[in-house]
Amino acid sequence: MSFSSLGLSEAIVRAVTERGYTIPTPIQTQAIPAVLSGGDLMAGAQTGTGKTAGFVLPILQRLSEKPAPAQHGRPPAHQPIRALILTPTRELAAQVEESVREYGKHLHLHSMVMFGGVNINPQIQRLRGRIDILVATPGRLLDHVQQKTLDLAHVEILVLDEADRMLDMGFIRDIRKILALLPRHRQNLLFSATFSDEIKALADGLLHRPALIEVARRNATADTVAQKVYPVDRDKKRQLLAHLIQEKQWFQVLVFTRTKHGANRLAEQLTKDGITALAIHGNKSQAARTRALAEFKSGELQVLVATDIAARGIDISELPHVVNYELPNVPEDYVHRIGRTGRAGCEGEAVSLVCVDEHKFLADIERLIKRKLPREVVPGFEPDPNARPEPIQLRSQEHQRGRGPGRGAQPRGEGAARAPAKPQVAPGGGRRPGATPAKPGGRPPVQHRSGGRNR
Ligand code: AMP
Repeated sequence: MSFSSLGLSEAIVRAVTERGYTIPTPIQTQAIPAVLSGGDLMAGAQTGTGKTAGFVLPILQRLSEKPAPAQHGRPPAHQPIRALILTPTRELAAQVEESVREYGKHLHLHSMVMFGGVNINPQIQRLRGRIDILVATPGRLLDHVQQKTLDLAHVEILVLDEADRMLDMGFIRDIRKILALLPRHRQNLLFSATFSDEIKALADGLLHRPALIEVARRNATADTVAQKVYPVDRDKKRQLLAHLIQEKQWFQVLVFTRTKHGANRLAEQLTKDGITALAIHGNKSQAARTRALAEFKSGELQVLVATDIAARGIDISELPHVVNYELPNVPEDYVHRIGRTGRAGCEGEAVSLVCVDEHKFLADIERLIKRKLPREVVPGFEPDPNARPEPIQLRSQEHQRGRGPGRGAQPRGEGAARAPAKPQVAPGGGRRPGATPAKPGGRPPVQHRSGGRNR
C-alpha cells in the first residue's frame, strides 16, 4: 500500500515522501479514503498511530482540489477559514499545525495555530490575512469569537482531535459553543483514544452516518516497549533515578510526575546531580515549554520532567526512555505515558519507580494492561519490607491548593484533569478527604471551571 494509491495528489505524496514516510500506517490507510469521500468519521486512535497525517493529508487534498466558494466582495486575503481543527493542548495544536505546514508545503493553502498563554494581538493581526486551516485550542478560540476577530461561518471541515481528552479537561461547553458557530453543512471528523459514553453522546449529536474506524490501541502490550518496575523506598527514588540515568547512560529521558510541584522539584534536584533537566507543565509559560521541548528534542537536555497533561501530544519519535517517577492514579495515563516510547518500530523502555504508597496504583495498571510487570530490585536500593504506605498528593488536590490567583495561574486544563475512576482510597485504608465519590457505575463528574481553560 502506498500513499498515492490512497487517492492523494502528487504534491501531497511528495511532501510525505520528503518527510521520510513511504507506507501509510493502518489508521492512515483507513481514514484517508474515508475523509476523501467527504463523509463524517469517528476514529478510535491515539497518539503514536499516525492519526495526524490520517486527517491532515485528506483535508489538504480536499481543500486544494476544490477552491473556496466565491465570497462576494471579499478580497483574496479575506477568504474564510475552511477547516477547523480543535485540540485539547497547546503542544498538540502546535504539532498538528506543523504537520499541516509540512504536508502542505507544495500546496497554496495557509494555516494558523491559535492557543492561549501568549499575546492575543499577533493572532488578531494574523487573522486579518488568509487562513484556510485553523488549528486551535477551545478557550482562546472563544476569546477571539468574543472579540469578533474570528469568523467560523464558512468552515467546511471540523476535526475534534483527542476528543476524549478535551472532555476530560472540561471543554465540553466550549465545544458546544463552537459547534453553534459553524455552518450546518460540513464534514465532521472525531478522533478519540477511548469511546466513553460521553464521547458517544457527543458523536451522536455531531456526526452524520460516520464511517467508523478503530485501530489497535497502542497499549502496554506493544512489543516494542520493554516495561519494568523498580521497587524502591519513596525517599530513595531520586537517587535511584540519577543512578539509573548515569549507570545506563540514558539520554532523552522523559520522566513523569503526578504534580507540577513534583516536576519542578525533581528537575532542580537532577540538575544538582549534574544531569541536565527541565520541567514542563501547565504553570510554565508557553515560551519556556517550547524551549524545553526543543532542547529535549535536539538532545541538549538529557531529561524532561513532565506532568501527564503537559506531555499529552508531545511528539518525539524514537524516544528511548520513559520513566514513571510516580505512577499515575488513573491507570489509562500509564498507557498514554508509555506510548511516548517505542513508536514506529523503535525499541523503547518504560520503567516505573514504585514505592509502597503506590501499590494500589500498580495493581490497577496491571489489571488494565492484563499483565504483571517484571520487578527488579537494584542493589543498594532495596525497599524496606516494613515500610508503611502514606497518602499521596494528587494533581486535583494540588490544583485546589494553588487555586487562589485564579485565571492565568492555571493557563491550561491541568489540574482539571480526570478524577480517578473510583473513590480515592488512601493506601492506608479509608477514603481520602476531599475526594469526589464516583457515581455508581458511571464516570465521576468532570470539573468545570473557568480558570483552567486553554486560553
Ligand atoms: P501521530 O499519531 O499523528 O502523533 O504520529 C505519530 C508519529 O508517527 C509521528 O512522529 C509521525 O511523524 C509518525 N508517522 C506518521 N505517519 C507515519 C508513516 N506513514 N510512517 C512512519 N511514521 C509515521
